[in-house]
Amino acid sequence: MSEGETIIIKGGRVVDPGQDLDMTADVVLADGVVKGIYGRRRTRESGTVIDATGLVVSPGFIDLHCHLREPGFEYKETIASGTLAAARGGFTAVCAMPNTNPVMDSRAVVDFVLERALSEGFVRVMAIGAVTRGSLGKQLSEMGELAQAGVVGFSDDGHPVSDDNMMRQALSYSTSLGLPIINHCEALDLSDGGDMNEGWVSNRLGLKGIPNSAEEAMVARDILLAETTGGRLHIAHASTAGTVEMVRRAKERGLSVTCEATPHHLTLGHEAVLGDRGDGGQFSPLTLAAYETNAKVAPPLRSQEDVDALVRGLADGTVDFIATDHAPHATIEKVSTFSEAANGISVLETALGSLMALVHEGKLPLPVLIERLTAAPANFLGVGLGSLKTGGPADVTIFDPDAEWVVDSTEFVSKGKNTPLDGATLKGRVVATIVGGAVRYDARESGSAG
Ligand SMILES: [Zn+2]
Repeated sequence: MSEGETIIIKGGRVVDPGQDLDMTADVVLADGVVKGIYGRRRTRESGTVIDATGLVVSPGFIDLHCHLREPGFEYKETIASGTLAAARGGFTAVCAMPNTNPVMDSRAVVDFVLERALSEGFVRVMAIGAVTRGSLGKQLSEMGELAQAGVVGFSDDGHPVSDDNMMRQALSYSTSLGLPIINHCEALDLSDGGDMNEGWVSNRLGLKGIPNSAEEAMVARDILLAETTGGRLHIAHASTAGTVEMVRRAKERGLSVTCEATPHHLTLGHEAVLGDRGDGGQFSPLTLAAYETNAKVAPPLRSQEDVDALVRGLADGTVDFIATDHAPHATIEKVSTFSEAANGISVLETALGSLMALVHEGKLPLPVLIERLTAAPANFLGVGLGSLKTGGPADVTIFDPDAEWVVDSTEFVSKGKNTPLDGATLKGRVVATIVGGAVRYDARESGSAG
């Protein structure tokens, strides 16, 4: 279907927190924009009809944090495969992290990524520029040049900005450029090459633990520096209760501090490293499935207390939005000892199914979940996305909140098959994804979607 065509999404539950809407209605898309939402009096428009009875119709999801790996690591993912995975996961816009090779620290690399996304991508792509040259932490990147090239923020993600003064300068510049500094908060002296969360699971498995303080020490520093500079700080992938508490206090004091949480940190604990998910989500104490490298991620999966704090923070708005930290790796990078395995999880295609558990368990109302995937990241980015307002871009995600399916990573369109959810049953599945009025994914057309 081309973007010029009229699409009528009929009879779904339209949930658009950006305009405080939750009702059964028809949504009409034409010429790449939303033409209107029609409630009790159904539309008489003609065009391609998508029957959304029993389904949720939402603005397209926006992911502030994903790793598309191109240029340089095309064996892990490409812009084409990563954005196809995004479409399958219901995401209509993603932000690409700059830890490519070369690093996205110059206009040339930003141009390359954005041009390739236009020619080969399935969803909208925005670029995040590096804070420091080569993300090496030694010298600030040409932040002004990157801003002119259109980056939506700066990050050395994968690495923290460890140097205090470098972070201070970056936050100072961020003020004048009006863009956030997105820090991967990890005090490397404290994480000290650790493998997983420091706790009973790391003790049981004899793996080196990473304490919560490794994250929290840098979050505390960054909040102080945000206060000193008036800069705009965003904390990537918050993982601990302490981080949530510090961000809550920073917001109360009126600082420009925001944070995100990932689907895995919101739904999985460190027990995932014990492996064995075949029994519907309960992890067995210790089996041959232990040392599950697909559950190795930075920051590590934490304790239930941390998971609960993140969910509460997401519900009350302390955690501003959800970002996937989609981090695809080649299989060979996970078939190794736990210590040697790469950090990261392939998330895009399981994100909604994971997160819907929070709704089904009564921990998060559906409109709040959708807000944290749509309007909240759109507001953060300051882009005109994340809502179905008339005249706005026709970016729509249609999903079945109750469809149960079993995760099979061999069916992922992402090159990264690295998920600890293989074999798990999730409840909630994307049915169709529309970007700018063009259908980019339709489960009812693709054979593997059943
Ligand atoms: Zn990171």
